[in-house]
Amino acid sequence: MIYEPQVYAIEDKSRLPFISTTEIEEMLHQATAGRTRVREIIAKSLSKKRLSMQETAVLIQATDSELVEEIKAGARKLKEQVYGKRIVLFAPLYVGNLCTNNCEYCGFRAKNKDQKRTTLSHSELIQEVEMLEDMGQKRLILVYGEHPKYSPEFIAETVRTVYKVKKGNGEIRRVNINAAPLTIDGFRKVKEAGIGTYQVFQESYNREAYSIYHTGGKKKDYDWRISALDRAQEAGIDDVGIGALFGLHDWRFEVMGLIRHVNHLEAVFNVGPHTISFPRLQKASNVKYDPKWILSDEDFTRMVAILRLAVPYTGLILTAREPAEIRDEVLQFGVSQIDGGTKIEMKGYSELKKEQNLDSEQFEISDNRSLAEVMDELIDKEYLPSFCTACYRTGRTGEHFMEFSVPGFIKRYCSPNAILTMAEYLEDYAKNGTKEKGYRLIKKNLEEMEKDQFKERLEERLELVKKGERDLYF
Ligand code: SAM
Ligand code: SF4
Repeated sequence: MIYEPQVYAIEDKSRLPFISTTEIEEMLHQATAGRTRVREIIAKSLSKKRLSMQETAVLIQATDSELVEEIKAGARKLKEQVYGKRIVLFAPLYVGNLCTNNCEYCGFRAKNKDQKRTTLSHSELIQEVEMLEDMGQKRLILVYGEHPKYSPEFIAETVRTVYKVKKGNGEIRRVNINAAPLTIDGFRKVKEAGIGTYQVFQESYNREAYSIYHTGGKKKDYDWRISALDRAQEAGIDDVGIGALFGLHDWRFEVMGLIRHVNHLEAVFNVGPHTISFPRLQKASNVKYDPKWILSDEDFTRMVAILRLAVPYTGLILTAREPAEIRDEVLQFGVSQIDGGTKIEMKGYSELKKEQNLDSEQFEISDNRSLAEVMDELIDKEYLPSFCTACYRTGRTGEHFMEFSVPGFIKRYCSPNAILTMAEYLEDYAKNGTKEKGYRLIKKNLEEMEKDQFKERLEERLELVKKGERDLYF
């Protein structure tokens, strides 16, 4: 194996560069997608084993339409066996769009003079959170540009503020962050504020492509970014999210990069990422991109199915960047989290604007449905929308594959918690017949459950929720 030059101190092994362009390109080149081999690999994934990079490369090279269908069917089956019908909902909240970087694809980049720059004040932040709570949101991801103003202390303070906002029965029970890489000490400070997941996307795992798109500021440094999650882990943040921005380079390379990143975190810290995100490049104010790498819908859906099979126990996040039809399709392949009612404009929740305005948002989004509409559709399709935050709050973090590998975990914790949080939503926020529909779906799920002590305890708590008790979980 050929690795690229080591740029970090040898004594800090966890920060050695672990992505090798040559290694990934050779693996992709050498992979051949024979029918039998592809089927063996799908079967391995269905037996709940994570795939190697070589095996992932074989699935990537399987372009025959029949094999693609088998890969998608495998992903659907895995999703049903492992995650059931639960879909976790969250919302992003943009805290500030000051930025010293110059990511060529992002409306917030420093050189984009058309962009209006804002940082939410304390009271504006509270106002946005109250709006989100009024919709029924319980899980947020706070998003920040990269700027000296957004210090670890600032980020920690905004996280603490969000947790304190309580409106009616509303509260935010889990605050995740998507922020620029910090130092180990910086990560310690944000951990103390009680963040859930720390998420950062590598954008492109290919060094050359990375350097084309990151032309200014700290983000120019590929190694500083790729080592961010190692520093987060060293600071004690064992719940991290990775991602790549699809459209900067060949999607096949990026999928391999993501899997290599998972391997690295598992090898060094004994715990892989909690989630993987795979945004596709969207239109933004005055951005530059190469049409050659734009991922078609067909390749995108295939890519999600491959990722599902490659990392069976890692959560997959799909965002409102995707149109509703694509979201609906890939939900079947194992997306476990989606956002609902998303606004990516600064102050987008409190100043609800009718028209999209590319000069005040980071990029365009394609799914403008409200949370209520998303809930309605999920219920119609018999998915169980979940606002569960129990694992994080009971300290069940780190071993993210628990729900996957611990027998009975889903039955004991995930499904009951999904039902309890859904019932809270139905009681407090549902409109226009959603409540009745939602309770019918809960009843159906209860009927399908084995009659045992777990079901009994769930039924008891469900009655308590109906009587007005909140935040009950297992
Ligand atoms: N500033 C931090 C950073 O760059 O990591 C966090 C916030 S940034 C707004 C969050 C993510 O938005 C980026 O990591 C990038 O993947 C994504 N993004 C930026 N421009 C985009 C675009 N035009 N289309 C889709 N996603 C985009
Ligand atoms: Fe700044 Fe992040 Fe946008 Fe890059 S992606 S310009 S770092 S906000």
